[in-house]
Amino acid sequence: MATTVERTSLPQIQQTECFIGGQWVPAASGKTFSTVNPATEEVLAEVAEGDAEDVEQAVRAARDAFEEGEWSRMDARDRGRLMHKLCDLMEAEADDLTLLETLDNGKPIRDARAADLPLTVDCLRYYAGYADKIHGQTIPIRGDYFTYTRREPVGVAGQIIPWNFPMLMTAWKWGPALAAGCTIVMKPAEQTPLTCLRMARLAQKAGFPDGVINVVPGYGPTAGAAIVKHPDVDKVAFTGEYKTAQIIMRDAAETLKRLTFELGGKSPNVIFADADIDAAIAGTHFGLYFNQGQCCCAGSRVFVEDSIHDRFVERLADLNRSRKLGNPLDTATEQGPQVDQAQFEKILHYIEVGKNEGATCVTGGNRFGDKGYFVEPTMFTDVQDDMAIATDEIFGPVLSVLRFKDVDELVERANRTTYGLAAAVWTRDVGKAHRLAAQIKAGTVWVNCYDVFDAAAPFGGFKMSGMGRELGEKGLDAYTETKTVTVSLA
Ligand code: ADP
Repeated sequence: MATTVERTSLPQIQQTECFIGGQWVPAASGKTFSTVNPATEEVLAEVAEGDAEDVEQAVRAARDAFEEGEWSRMDARDRGRLMHKLCDLMEAEADDLTLLETLDNGKPIRDARAADLPLTVDCLRYYAGYADKIHGQTIPIRGDYFTYTRREPVGVAGQIIPWNFPMLMTAWKWGPALAAGCTIVMKPAEQTPLTCLRMARLAQKAGFPDGVINVVPGYGPTAGAAIVKHPDVDKVAFTGEYKTAQIIMRDAAETLKRLTFELGGKSPNVIFADADIDAAIAGTHFGLYFNQGQCCCAGSRVFVEDSIHDRFVERLADLNRSRKLGNPLDTATEQGPQVDQAQFEKILHYIEVGKNEGATCVTGGNRFGDKGYFVEPTMFTDVQDDMAIATDEIFGPVLSVLRFKDVDELVERANRTTYGLAAAVWTRDVGKAHRLAAQIKAGTVWVNCYDVFDAAAPFGGFKMSGMGRELGEKGLDAYTETKTVTVSLA
């Protein structure tokens, strides 16, 4: 039985223009940019290259829809219903959406089907359920007054997303914004604009009023910066590199914009000798190599207790060697290419740095094949805390193994990073697990598992891994303002 998706069943790329005020329009400048299939290095499509002028139009459309359009008058329950309708349409077009994601991003089709699409729909449905459940409190204050709070939508939300989970990041941003009653100007990543544009088309089909969702594809320093600087954008939600967040923070200072950031990580994954070793090996492999290592929460610093170190490394190495790389359209493929040439070169550079720093390259270490941006699953041992491969986010399939003996020392080493996005602990000792969960400075700690995400569970970073939380009830905070109303009863 053929397991590879045939060329004839590949989806047509329909949406390549800006989506502004319910219209599909070319960029005002007429410019376009190429989006490339990273598995073949072939151009997939030419996409409108929006910039400040297009952002201006999009913000105006979003503002109108927010202040006086159908959206602002719509019953909250109907907002939720529209979001569910978008999800129905996404499920009906699941094949096209997952294929587009695989072509544009390079991720294996089996991951797009098993993770990206279902998690995207789940997130939107979760927030659809919140649309009519966002409400304030009545508060007893001193004196003869009646005080209550209202939770109002923050307004026009600027949303800037990366390329590693294009559909899912769109849902993480749209879900809470739409539930809260905000309108949206989104910029997808320049590497992967296609599924976000298709989702906008489906939102249009679902019946979202014009101007509620606007998508301006383009580059960060032009289209992205224009969103951040625009005085009529009330809030910016950004996922990407901390260095970009620093630029955004400076650019947003002028208008004191509300900001939420979900940034990078160098997450510690701690394996104790008393862990279920089979589970820890499988979880460690998944926790790093999933999505070609392109996860902000990737468990890239693996601390292994001394007494099991060699056995652990040996078995993890076997698993790495058995990983199936290749055509992402083949349903048996476990690892596809990195998203683009720049990422590919950055990763190969770090592998050289690791070798030069004196770490031992146990598996991988090279490009895979001679076409497409594939990198072998790479594992270094003998890694020291201060080596670049232990401190810098590589965002690729490169895992660093560090040894530890003492738990107190381990906690200090695990926290010796500017990041704090995620961590994991593998142990059968419940007390130890909870103690570490409290001691590690990270927004998420997984115990005896890795990469367990749910729309209901808040996610975000300590330290330079971010600001604010996405997902869960917490995720709504960023899209609402609290208004206090006090009425004299005298
Ligand atoms: P990555 O290295 O993973 O691509 P980036 O932080 O560079 O991470 O990109 C994430 C998103 O931020 C992309 O959509 C990108 O276009 C956008 N971006 C990049 N630079 C800026 C900027 N100066 N202002 C606003 N957005 C930006």
